[in-house]
Amino acid sequence: MIKKGCLDIVQQKCENCYDCVLGHTRKNIVFSDGNPETAKIVLIGEAPGETEDETGKPFVGRAGKLLNQFLQEAGISRENDLYIINTVKCRPPENRVPTDVEKAMCEKYMTAQIEIMNPKAIIFCGSTSLKSFYPDKKIQISKVRGRWFNVTINGKKYRSMAVFHPSYLLRNHSMEDGSPRRLMQQDLSVIKSEILGETTSNPFSDKDLAIV
Ligand code: URA
Repeated sequence: MIKKGCLDIVQQKCENCYDCVLGHTRKNIVFSDGNPETAKIVLIGEAPGETEDETGKPFVGRAGKLLNQFLQEAGISRENDLYIINTVKCRPPENRVPTDVEKAMCEKYMTAQIEIMNPKAIIFCGSTSLKSFYPDKKIQISKVRGRWFNVTINGKKYRSMAVFHPSYLLRNHSMEDGSPRRLMQQDLSVIKSEILGETTSNPFSDKDLAIV
């Protein structure tokens, strides 16, 4: 219960947070989902939507249901293998992308969650979460997804991979080879075997994120 205890302290601070405008329009903060004591992977999304705001849980609306299907198919347990968080903890009105100020104000909670979790790997789900660590780079998920790279957070390196956001997959139905849905299946299967498999490969790639 050590991680949970530390995370509860961060969550309490977050519940009392009005550092940006989103604090004034939220119904609930959306802090996390998953079992912090068993999860080896932190998955970071963008921001809560309407259903998340109502329930206080990340990825429970349409996009979340699609994510669940992909996870299940890859043999990744949402409940035990993942600790799911978002870049910002409160819903941006009309589901707009969070602003730089909102992301900056909320960053302390995200980095605290990652530090406490000390995950074996981080999955950046969509470009917003990735861009919060690489603000100067022009990032296209389709160019960087599916490859391991190291991200340094408060001086510590974490093995990471970016994958498509399920909202994008809701708009792209094709299952043909090379389609976003097929690539999502491939990426999750690599994550399952290399992070959650019996024998895991070298924990670090020697690569930092190269934007091509
Ligand atoms: N999209 C996200 O990025 N996060 C959620 O929690 C829900 C939808």
